[in-house]
Amino acid sequence: MLKSICPLCNGLYEIKYNCFSCNAKMTDEGPIVNFMDDYSPYLLDEITSKVDGAERDECIHIFRCPNCGTRERFSIERKAF
Ligand SMILES: [Zn+2]
Ligand SMILES: [Zn+2]
Repeated sequence: MLKSICPLCNGLYEIKYNCFSCNAKMTDEGPIVNFMDDYSPYLLDEITSKVDGAERDECIHIFRCPNCGTRERFSIERKAF
């Protein structure tokens, strides 16, 4: 069985996103599991629901804009390495 891992959590590479508001480069604040306390319970469904077969296994990361403070969630696809 191949094990799929999140490349961001494992430091394999970085993914850059630009802020939707001001277009500055957003910084990865880590997987959303680190922010559980800040987020409402409904998000738990997203985190715990795994697609059968794990073909679209995703790690949700929080990206924050250092310029305007906007936070966005991005789904990072886990891959087998
Ligand atoms: Zn991750
Ligand atoms: Zn911004």
